[in-house]
Order: sequence, then structure tokens, then C-alpha cells
Amino acid sequence: PRLSGAEIREKFLSFYEGRGHTRMQGASLIPADPTVLLTIAGMLQFKPIFLGQAPRSVPRATTTQKCVRVSDIENIGVTARHHTFFEMLGNFSFGDYFKAEAIQMAWELSTKVLGIPASRIWVSVYEQDEEAAGLWRDMVGFPAERLVRLGDEDNFWASGPTGPCGPCSELYYDFHPERGTAGASLEDDSRFIEFYNLVFMESNRGPDGSLAPLANKNIDTGMGLERVAQILQRVPNNYETDLIFPIVATAAKLAGLDYHSASAREQTALKVMGDHARAVVYMVSDGVSPSNIGRGYVLRRLIRRTVMKGRLLGVKEAMLSALAETVIGLSEGCDPAVAKNSQRIIAELAREEEKFASTLEAGEKRLNQVLEAAASQKGQGPTATVSGAAAFELYDTYGFPLEITQEIAAERGIQVDAAGFEAEMASQKNRSREAARSIDMTAGHALGDLAQQLGRTSFIGYEHGPLRSPGS
Ligand code: ATP
Ligand code: MG
Ligand code: MG
Ligand code: MG
Repeated sequence: PRLSGAEIREKFLSFYEGRGHTRMQGASLIPADPTVLLTIAGMLQFKPIFLGQAPRSVPRATTTQKCVRVSDIENIGVTARHHTFFEMLGNFSFGDYFKAEAIQMAWELSTKVLGIPASRIWVSVYEQDEEAAGLWRDMVGFPAERLVRLGDEDNFWASGPTGPCGPCSELYYDFHPERGTAGASLEDDSRFIEFYNLVFMESNRGPDGSLAPLANKNIDTGMGLERVAQILQRVPNNYETDLIFPIVATAAKLAGLDYHSASAREQTALKVMGDHARAVVYMVSDGVSPSNIGRGYVLRRLIRRTVMKGRLLGVKEAMLSALAETVIGLSEGCDPAVAKNSQRIIAELAREEEKFASTLEAGEKRLNQVLEAAASQKGQGPTATVSGAAAFELYDTYGFPLEITQEIAAERGIQVDAAGFEAEMASQKNRSREAARSIDMTAGHALGDLAQQLGRTSFIGYEHGPLRSPGS
């Protein structure tokens, strides 16, 4: 019998409980830490302890943490393993155990408790971390040919440009052991998936970039629940696990589709809807409201993207309530507060969706005109093209991000002049630099920019001001 998502979560938490860890609540998606916009990892609530700014209440803790990583938004529905919203299981040591025990327990949990075959696991260590490599080799008996050394990018973990950090060791699952070890790369996501990261948190990066040792050696780990479910439930991506598939199925039903026989494009849209629906429900539950700045802006963009994707699949009626109800029905083990907040969540999402719907309808009419005009001018060039100016008007006045215009146009074999769009965007920015305070909510690119900024998670100041226009 394959383990359910709920069973995996419980096995993780009770395994660490049995090894002296206190089971604690995950934190809100709205972090206490002012340097990040949204909670991106389980360690965030413990940052003051790692930094020695707050006393530890227990030596060891284990949690399941709701996370939102907007920095992964481009990957949603594209990779099999990324979400904006996901659940991170974690075990933490506050100056208690360190590398040896962390590695030993992670190995035992993965192979014995979760039953992942040892021969399917690959491990990465930081290239300069001889100690971790030695522990895997000598203590665990892990074979050298599946132990990979990686550099700063992958195996030195930090929650942001400053703050606690350290070398890490990651566990990967191999979907294709028959391909052999020679020339294998952990970057190859058609073969490998990272599922567990052990961070040996012993340094603090200062504003000048230098590393200073922390007073204590700590352990911070993260295991992606949806990824482990993907592995153990033997499905091709996180979306087809029992943690998310019911939401995808609700989206498919709204669109009159059957997920399994839908086209790749339709499946991607359904996955985006399944992903974003979770993110927006948990964000509203934790007290985020749609707005034009900060996390409210992230929420609004995720809501609009969900609705846009649904419309592209032909959903005519309101969809967020049905999606939210499915999300709420799945939420108990992750966060019991969600069910308690269900009425407020559904009302807030429905209100925002309704607000968006009227602009959308007008935009769709305009888009149709633009596409018909482009199609009728086809004679003048090799392919029909929507001008940059027209794409910009759709974006500026009706809230159609460029990617959506492109997608709809492509369905009719029509191109969009993206360079022209960028030029319009730049010239408008010059025109309205003075008026920058009245933020353009529809900024398609702001999302990408925001994602990049979020990736760096330096948000001091940004929290208090309006979102900058892209590139300004
Ligand atoms: P990847 O390299 O696959 O993007 P990561 O190295 O960025 O993952 P970590 O920061 O190490 O991830 O986070 C710890 C764990 O959380 C990962 O090993 C993974 O299981 C899970 N995780 C990270 N990002 C996501 C995401 N966007 N969606 C789902 N799970 C995630
Ligand atoms: Mg990542
Ligand atoms: Mg990684
Ligand atoms: Mg990692």
C-alpha cells in the first residue's frame, strides 16, 4: 500500500518526536521576520534562536511548515516538482546535535521509516565539506559513486543575503537507476528529484558578505512533503499526489476536461490552477488581503493568474469558491486553522474574483478585436502579428499580462510583437515616472521582477513602500 500524504507527514513528525524533538506549530505565512515577504522555509521562525538573539525553548524541534516561494513561479506546471505553495517538513537542532546525528537520522527516516530503497538515493555534499562526505561514507556506508560534491549554488544554504547559513547535504531520489552512474548529473530533473536538505547552520553572513561563526552549531532541515509523496505514490509529478490532485480534478471539472486525457497545454493550466489555489487559500487564511503592494500584491497576482488560466480553458463562471472548497477540504493535517477560516477565505476570494471579472470581460472583447485585425492584415507579412502597442493596451487597460495575450494569440497562429511591447512599457515608464505612486496593478513583468527579488528575499523597506514599476 502506498503511503498517503497525511501518513508521510505523520511518519516524519512522529519519527523525530521519538528522537527527542518537540512537535511544534508551523509559523504563519506572514513571517515575523521583517526581511522576507512570505515564509519560505521552516527555519524562519527559529532564526532569532540560530542567531543567538532569542533563547531556545527546547533543544530540538520538528514542524511542518507552510511555505510560499514566489521565486519558483516560472516553474509551476513546467517542472514536476515546484510549487508556489508547499509543505516543508523539518527537524531542527538548536546547538544540540550536529552533522553526524542529522545524517544518521535522515538516512534512517528515508530508508527505514519511509521505505525509500537505499539504492535509489543519491547524496550531495558541499564541495569543501570533507566532514559530511566522511560521515556519509564511513558512518552510513554510502557508496562513493552516488555521493556528489556541489558548490555554493546548490550546497550552501542561506535564507537570504544576510543571516544564518551553512553548508548543506541533500538527498535525491533516482527515477532511472538503469541509466547508470557514469556521467549522471543531479541537475537532470528527468532523472533526479531533490527531496531532503540538511543544513549545517554554523555561520552568519553579515551585510558586507563576510561569514562569522554562530555561537552554536545548529541543524535546519527541509523535506518537501509533495515531493516525497510523488516518489512514494509513484506518480509522475507532485500534482498527481493525493495532496493536490483533488484540486486539479476540481479545476478540470470546471473546465469540462478529464485531466488524464487533456492536452499538455491544458494539463499545465490545470496544474497552475491547482498550485495557485492552494497558495491563495493559505495566504488569505493567514491574513493576507489582495492589494497593490507587498504580499497583497502577490496574492492578487496569483488570484488573477488562476482566473486567467481557467478562462483560457473555457471556464465561464466563477471558479475560486469551488477550488477553495477543495483546498480547504485537504487542509486539516497541514493547518487546522484553514477550515475554521473557511467562510472568510471563500468570501474574500469570491469578492476579488468578481472585481477582476468585469475588467476581464471588457479585455476579452478588446483582445478579440485586436486578433481579428491582426489576422486580416496577414497578407502584409509572413505571419500575423499583434503590435506592441495593442498588446500594451491590453496589459495597461485590461490587466492582460503579455504571456496571456501571447498564449491566446498563439492558439490562432498569431504572434505578438514582444519587443514592441517592451518598448511601449519603457516609454510609458518614462512618461509616468512622476505618477509612479499610482501603481499599475496589471504589471505582468512586476511578477517576474518580484519573483527575482523574492528569490533574494531582501525586503526591508520594500514592505513599507509601494511596488516599484518594473525596471524603475
Ligand atoms: P530545488 O533545487 O528543487 O529548487 P531547493 O534546493 O530550492 O529545491 P531547499 O531550499 O533546499 O529547496 O528546500 C528544502 C526542500 O523543500 C527541498 O529539498 C524540496 O523537497 C522542498 N522544496 C523546495 N522548493 C520547493 C518548491 N518550490 N515546491 C515544492 N517543494 C519545494
Ligand atoms: Mg529551488
Ligand atoms: Mg536544490
Ligand atoms: Mg536544496
